[in-house]
Amino acid sequence: MTKEFHKKPIQHPIFKLIGKTSEELGMDSYVIGGFVRDYLLNRGTPKDIDIVTIGSGIKLAQKVATKLKGNPQVSVFKNFGTAMIKHKDFELEFVGARKESYQRSSRKPIVEDGSLKDDQNRRDFTINAIALALNESNFGELLDPFNGRKDLAQKIIRTPLDPKITYSDDPLRMMRAIRFASQLDFKIELYSHQAISENKNRIKIVSKERIVDELHKILMSPKPSVGLKLLYQTGLLQLILPELIALQGIEEVEGQRHKDNFWHTLEVVDNIAKTTDNLWLRWAALLHDIGKAPTKKFSKKVGWTFHGHEYVGSKMVYKLFKRLRMPLNDKMKFVQKMVLMSSRPIILSEDYVTDSAVRRLVFDAGDYVEDLMTLCEADITTKNPRKQKKYKNNFKIVREKIVEVEERDQVRNFQPPVTGEEIMETFNLKPSKEIGVIKEAIKEAILEGEIPNEHEAAFQFMLQKAESLGLKPVSS
Ligand code: ATP
Repeated sequence: MTKEFHKKPIQHPIFKLIGKTSEELGMDSYVIGGFVRDYLLNRGTPKDIDIVTIGSGIKLAQKVATKLKGNPQVSVFKNFGTAMIKHKDFELEFVGARKESYQRSSRKPIVEDGSLKDDQNRRDFTINAIALALNESNFGELLDPFNGRKDLAQKIIRTPLDPKITYSDDPLRMMRAIRFASQLDFKIELYSHQAISENKNRIKIVSKERIVDELHKILMSPKPSVGLKLLYQTGLLQLILPELIALQGIEEVEGQRHKDNFWHTLEVVDNIAKTTDNLWLRWAALLHDIGKAPTKKFSKKVGWTFHGHEYVGSKMVYKLFKRLRMPLNDKMKFVQKMVLMSSRPIILSEDYVTDSAVRRLVFDAGDYVEDLMTLCEADITTKNPRKQKKYKNNFKIVREKIVEVEERDQVRNFQPPVTGEEIMETFNLKPSKEIGVIKEAIKEAILEGEIPNEHEAAFQFMLQKAESLGLKPVSS
């Protein structure tokens, strides 16, 4: 067979240096995996570089490090037989070529030394199994036993070996296949697709953390619905995020239908992916309607309703994060807040936008008001051009009013202009219910636009309010 070389050899001097060093050690080495895939796809120069060598990866890494400027540290992972060097922007991972076999109960393989071919056989997809030779004698030679380049050109995810075995051996690969399809906009080849459906229940041996990692990557892909649809079609979504499956379907009673909230959600996620790279805002888009399944009701009078779905949904966010071992921290609280408030700007967009409604929105959303607007704009999926235009235009007005109200009233992260202490001093009160009542009344008056958010006006308002409660200032 004639040797094939990559037309555009990898330029960075680090590769020549690794090749030269491995030659000195009498070993062959190759760059393999994501680097080669992304390089061939012209996705730039990836920062993670996997080097596979026929021999000890650790030994090679140690020798390479001695030749690099500043003698970077080598992190050795003896148990895995790997070593890692951080050099400039790069993370270089060295591993000896290996052969793997699996037991049914675990996705951890039994590992033994192997040839390059063995190592390529253990790779998940043909597009991830292409090796590029680094030794001087064959620098730039492509070793592509499964025709991964053809799959790259045809945009296909395919396993090197029998997909049934590949996915069953390590079910994380099911998530990876779908993630790559979503990131690269590739199709999963038919037998792989079937094998994923057949093996879906094996996902239970994959840790939640790894599943969530892949979900994050799907959500961060240019069009997340590609991955989400695949999760749905293969039956994995049912096992990972059943709350979303519960949104699927349209019911009709007495001629009245509601929209399919699952497909609507996918549209919302795609929309938001066009306007933000904030992972947690994308999560909020994915979960914004999950409360609709448990709150759905039909009544003859008003048709379909989902009363309180935002509140129920925000509670479900906590349970879902907990189940998936996601962080129960400020990120989760952010997602909860977005879900809880997700209908607020929509109500505004359907109607005449009043200053006080906008003031309340800014008050409640605080620093997240822009994110909330981004979510709500993504939520417009109506196919009716007239409605679409009206909602978009109203959101534009809401955004303008937010800026206006912000400048004038400063209700974001609201600090009461009259403090509890001042109320106590003025009326010689001990801590009591009245103070709360007065403070609340001042806040309401500001939000309603009855008084400006200023000390003097608030103080005068306080005097009036106190009088109505039968309180007198101590000085008068
Ligand atoms: P990305 O950096 O976008 O995640 P990648 O392909 O570099 O893409 P890594 O997880 O860094 O992904 O894996 C590097 C290489 O190791 C892959 O290209 C693939 O060849 C192999 N690999 C990773 N995980 C698996 C797996 N579960 N089964 C088989 N091969 C795998």
